[in-house]
Amino acid sequence: MNDILIRDKLLIRAEYECEYCHRILFDSPWQKEHIMPKVLGGTDDFQNLAVSCPRCNLNKNQAIESVDLVTAKKTRLFNPRSDKWENHFGIVAGQLVGRTPIGRATARLLFKRTEQQLPPDLSWWPINDLKNETLYRFLNHQRARRLGNKFSDLEKAFADIPFLKKVTGEDYDLARFATYLLMAETLYTRSGVEDIRKALKIVSEAWQIKSIDPTRQAELLNVTSIVLQQLATVLVLEGKPAEAKIAQERAASAYKKRLELIGGDDVRERLRLKALQKKYLCDETIQPSKDQVHEAIEEASTGNLGALSYSVDVLVNNYHNNKEIELVLEETNNILLSIGYGQDFDYGYNVVVRRRWWILLARLGLNIDFDLLQSDLSFWKSINMHNELRELAAGLRNLPNCNDNNAITEMLILITNIYGVKK
Ligand SMILES: [Zn+2]
Repeated sequence: MNDILIRDKLLIRAEYECEYCHRILFDSPWQKEHIMPKVLGGTDDFQNLAVSCPRCNLNKNQAIESVDLVTAKKTRLFNPRSDKWENHFGIVAGQLVGRTPIGRATARLLFKRTEQQLPPDLSWWPINDLKNETLYRFLNHQRARRLGNKFSDLEKAFADIPFLKKVTGEDYDLARFATYLLMAETLYTRSGVEDIRKALKIVSEAWQIKSIDPTRQAELLNVTSIVLQQLATVLVLEGKPAEAKIAQERAASAYKKRLELIGGDDVRERLRLKALQKKYLCDETIQPSKDQVHEAIEEASTGNLGALSYSVDVLVNNYHNNKEIELVLEETNNILLSIGYGQDFDYGYNVVVRRRWWILLARLGLNIDFDLLQSDLSFWKSINMHNELRELAAGLRNLPNCNDNNAITEMLILITNIYGVKK
């Protein structure tokens, strides 16, 4: 059979879809993929070939197995010839995810975006109006690094910013603004209070740029609020509750200003503001309504995981509300059973849900799988999401049942051991 005929037959058998992620391939490039890699003895037999989009093929490379982070076990990859796709994959919260250990392990390895497969334009509005193309490409590339948590590469690129000296006018302001945002985001994921203070300094420098429009100001208010909130967490962990309270109040008011500026009042925004106002301030008056909790769960099914996360933040710190907490836990379980990690270039989204899940389990006094927790924490550390480790520690210490629950003490010891978060 000649190669063109083989390729046609493959494509027809695959119904013009990537056999791993089901991306439609009518007009897009695709590759002939060896299910058992040739280096491991796989043949060119029709049964050993699959149609793959470049992303899945590139990510699969020579692998035949991967780790499912829900069970923390190694498992073989999905085999398009012998497995039924519907049994292993599905759409949850708007994303294609694995539903079984095989599905999750495959999703984690194959569905993550790679630098080569990133869209040429990450559509990041701080750089969208840049006229200088070299500069645009440079910042776009740094943005990709930021989304992949490749902070040391990002830092190296920004260590010396000679390109800025050659730019003038509006481009100069935009580029500087985008650079500041990326640097602040990088710093606030770190552990030390010095990093957070550096991030605050960068944020205040960004505020000096005169010509930024209201949309960009809103984004800067968002980053300002995150940095202040991270500062509050560090201060709580350092045993400085009074200072933490001030930082937290500033974080909440920055976010409130942001909402005023953009007129944002969807359920995610409202819950997030409540979460910020409540955190470390112990404001009992701030509660989501039952309707809001249901709305948040509804939103989560459409991909708005933030709404669900913030509803956890406002719910967990009270002695009452157990019914709502259980409801939110049930939805979080559903999402996590499917989602695993890494189907997206930006890991952050999944980790923030995962972190809330641990908080919910601890809050309800349910059994903690310490092996799984350990593998989670190591994973967060390995992708530089130190802020999530910090937030988990502070969140656990903030729970109303934290003093009479041994599991919480043990969880905190584990976090301290892995990361060295101060008790
Ligand atoms: Zn694919």
